[in-house]
Amino acid sequence: MEGKVYICTWKKVGTKYQVWLKKNPKIKASARTFEEADEILAGEIMEIAGDGENVREYLPPAPESSKPAKLLDIAIVHVGGNTHSRIVGEDKHLFSGGVCPHCGTFLGERTAAPLVIDGVASGYDGGFVWQKPFQYFSADFLKLLTPKERASFEWRPIELQRRSRKTFFEMIPRETVPHVAVRGMPFEPLHCPKCQTIIGLHLFQKGTSIYTYVNRDSLPKRLPTCFAVGEAHNFKLAFIRDRWLELAGRPGARGLVSNKVGVIAAADCDPKPKFRRHPGR
Ligand SMILES: [Zn+2]
Repeated sequence: MEGKVYICTWKKVGTKYQVWLKKNPKIKASARTFEEADEILAGEIMEIAGDGENVREYLPPAPESSKPAKLLDIAIVHVGGNTHSRIVGEDKHLFSGGVCPHCGTFLGERTAAPLVIDGVASGYDGGFVWQKPFQYFSADFLKLLTPKERASFEWRPIELQRRSRKTFFEMIPRETVPHVAVRGMPFEPLHCPKCQTIIGLHLFQKGTSIYTYVNRDSLPKRLPTCFAVGEAHNFKLAFIRDRWLELAGRPGARGLVSNKVGVIAAADCDPKPKFRRHPGR
């Protein structure tokens, strides 16, 4: 199985970073920077487990390498299963406005139609549908959340074509904290000329450790431990990092991986990033 999540840990000894698998400290690496050590460890895991796309989830979280300027000190992560599934059959009926013929975005509101997917790889308590607004989590994961945390979302049972021991629920947020572009950073989201949706307000670049940002002013005044970030058609489950650290690695959170969400001041948000025209599907 490729793309498995491995719970790892690290410490700095003298001038070197040591990293290792929590369950098997013999699988380890050490280097002058954390990033190098992590890369070597990824190679070790690849050799031993044959998993070239392994993902290392660090407890405690990986040290900050190159902190983007003016990043505020509110630690938020988004969390999701590191596996994806396919929708079975027609998908237009899942949203009231169907699908944009130009860019493929779902339009309108989520309808009552249940989501049907092919299956969920074993060993995962969550996953997503590739480039579609569907995130799902297992019943075991939902048990880890408090009633108040669960209440921020609608959790709708999904149907699996391939049987699974676990049951899974589609996460439908009641509201989301939108992603923003950061001034001075090369965001190049796509704009669809047909439906006006902006797609890809995140930054995938080598050397950046944070891909998504939110405006501090758009966070709720009393920040809940668990909420949604993103847009109506591209959202993620987010946690205050300390809350996620209580859950990471527990049964019920298998195969889930976290990524940091940058929190910035309103003055650092770029309200008009340069868009590229969506080329169409
Ligand atoms: Zn479109």
